Amino acid sequence: MNDRRRALPSVDRLLHEPEVQTLLAAAPRAAVVTAIREALDAARTRRAGPPEDWATDIRERLAERRRPGLRPVLNATGVVVHTNLGRAPLAESAVQAMTAIAAGYSNLEFDLDTGTRGSRTDHCRELLRRVTGAPDALVVNNAAGALVLALNALAAGRDVLISRGELIEIGGSFRIPDIMTRSGARLREVGTTNRTHLDDYRQALDGDVAAMLTVHRSNFAQVGFVASPEPAALAALAVEAEVPYLHDVGSGLLADLAPWGLTSEPRVADALAAGAGLVLFSGDKLLGGPQAGCVVGGSALVARCRDNPLARAMRADKLTLAALGATLALYEDADTSVREIPVLRMLTLAAAELEQRATRLAAECPSVLGPTLVPGESAVGGGSFPNAALPTTLVALDAGALGPDGLALRLRLGDPPVIARVSAGRVLLDPRTLPDDAAPHIGRALAQALLA
Ligand SMILES: *Cc1c(COP(=O)(O)O)cnc(C)c1O
Repeated sequence: MNDRRRALPSVDRLLHEPEVQTLLAAAPRAAVVTAIREALDAARTRRAGPPEDWATDIRERLAERRRPGLRPVLNATGVVVHTNLGRAPLAESAVQAMTAIAAGYSNLEFDLDTGTRGSRTDHCRELLRRVTGAPDALVVNNAAGALVLALNALAAGRDVLISRGELIEIGGSFRIPDIMTRSGARLREVGTTNRTHLDDYRQALDGDVAAMLTVHRSNFAQVGFVASPEPAALAALAVEAEVPYLHDVGSGLLADLAPWGLTSEPRVADALAAGAGLVLFSGDKLLGGPQAGCVVGGSALVARCRDNPLARAMRADKLTLAALGATLALYEDADTSVREIPVLRMLTLAAAELEQRATRLAAECPSVLGPTLVPGESAVGGGSFPNAALPTTLVALDAGALGPDGLALRLRLGDPPVIARVSAGRVLLDPRTLPDDAAPHIGRALAQALLA
């Protein structure tokens, strides 16, 4: 042990340094003391010995310890509905609605007219009915939950017909066959992987069948020698057989994105118009709201879901209902929805606007990185429009000695973390998924990454 290390100050002496004292205004004493102990331990074991400036070292350790695990990041990947980055950013009015409800009490389950118990299932019901045209609606935690609930409520212990081409894996641990098994319903596969016909369903319909299910192939597209019946034909067959027809459309597309060339996702209203008894979808994909699962459709079917005990286990919380309600309200006017809902705004950004943003972004990037504009593509993400490539303008950076992965790593470890793409030896930034005013923040993050 050298002399510098032997001469380490005591915890008490460091605690009484004036600059350390100021930390006590913002953090509990116990947290400051822990940071001091950490600084001392590090000084003891580190070859370089004590830090140049104890107060700075302690302040940084304290900040590190107090940083929340869940943090905002800047998404420069160009993937709009990025499941790993929290899917849909919320509209301003949804954030306000959540904040207003979060801080106090609310009429979550209280009828203000009568002063008696009300129901939380009333809150988004009317809006969902209005924007989808469905007779009734229910909100639960997410679409996976909605599917389990609907299958359990309508088909527990009985058979559900589904095409072999729709036994899909959505992501991670979400596989349709597993979900169906957990719901208590028995899966009865019809057709083949690439082709399923109406007759396949018709021949399978017997006394054990409790429902027919269509699951949208969200994250992939089948091309070539393929066939599947139209939802309207399946709905008609279900009516004939007197069993409910469920359609899991996945992304919850309410808007009409055809003017922007995005047509391959089923819209909720179209699925209902085709005759589905229940339509199930996510709140935080193309709908652009909070994590939620919506069940819309006929009143008798929705009521069976609402009255099922699983509905209690999957109920949406008040913040979700507040944010979802505010998001749905924006759909009452098509222009408003595209302007105010971030997911829709990002998907429909004009090429010229993206180029301008890329130009502003490049201007803020340190010149040693040689920022250049290159044409590229953004992705919708979230398993929606798997084939769609949205033209964009990227800022390409040459990371030099750091290497592209090294620069991307430093950007991720920055504050705020910036998530970039790495491709063909370059770091790429897509302005589509960055906030309008992000350019200076990205510039600072890059400067910081070069220093680190
Ligand atoms: C994404 C998706 C789900 C799951 O939705 P969550 O809200 O994430 O639970 C279910 N079905 C389909 C077809 C999907 O695309």
